[in-house]
Amino acid sequence: MVYNKITPDILSAINQIVGSDAVITGHDEMEQFSHDETEDLRYYPEVVVKPKSTVEVAALLKLCNEHLIPVTPRGAGTGLSGGALPVMGGLVIAMERFNQVIAIDEQNLQATVEPGVITEEFMNQVAAKGLLYPIDPASKGSCFIGGNVSHGSGGPRVVKYGTIREYILNRNWCCHQAKLYGRGPIL
Ligand SMILES: Cc1cc2nc3c(=O)[nH]c(=O)nc-3n(C[C@H](O)[C@H](O)[C@H](O)COP(=O)(O)OP(=O)(O)OC[C@H]3O[C@@H](n4cnc5c(N)ncnc54)[C@H](O)[C@@H]3O)c2cc1C
Repeated sequence: MVYNKITPDILSAINQIVGSDAVITGHDEMEQFSHDETEDLRYYPEVVVKPKSTVEVAALLKLCNEHLIPVTPRGAGTGLSGGALPVMGGLVIAMERFNQVIAIDEQNLQATVEPGVITEEFMNQVAAKGLLYPIDPASKGSCFIGGNVSHGSGGPRVVKYGTIREYILNRNWCCHQAKLYGRGPIL
């Protein structure tokens, strides 16, 4: 696949979609988006955006699809296998503004959560209601739920509770629905 570069016209369209305060083009500012925690790999994107709504994400993807611009979604950038690296350049869509737990449904043991929520914050909110979300990567204090889901991440509790795959009821770029446990003995 041959991708195109982000032209001034496309950048202008990106600015119109998300607003210029949510667009990063400076080399120094993009440094943090050029790597994750994978050792020694660095790829600069052409542009980074921080959308705040599903409508914005949809419009960005439509624009990039029309112009064959490579897109890389990014969570917290703690990945160890380079998934968030913009190896083809193009647009990085940073999901950090999607940071709300939308609903914790205690009766049906389900939660609806945005992908930019820090995993441990979600676990704590669920625990405060006497429930358990058992997926516990060691990076839970900094990684995002969206990165966990996309990456298939887990921790020691996988042995007892199964993998994250078994907890996701529904997902898209901007929203995940997760299964919860009633509180029992926690490993
Ligand atoms: C100290 C440390 C300890 C760790 N411990 C563990 C561990 O115990 N278990 C484990 O499994 N991993 C562990 N990891 C690796 C890493 O934390 C996990 O892979 C984590 O799930 C990555 O989440 P993230 O938010 O940082 O995602 P990122 O690294 O930003 O992205 C990961 C992948 O998800 C995609 N992505 C992110 N958000 C979205 C979205 N909204 N829509 C679509 N795709 C998206 C990205 O494109 C990328 O492919 C550890 C890492 C560190 C640095």
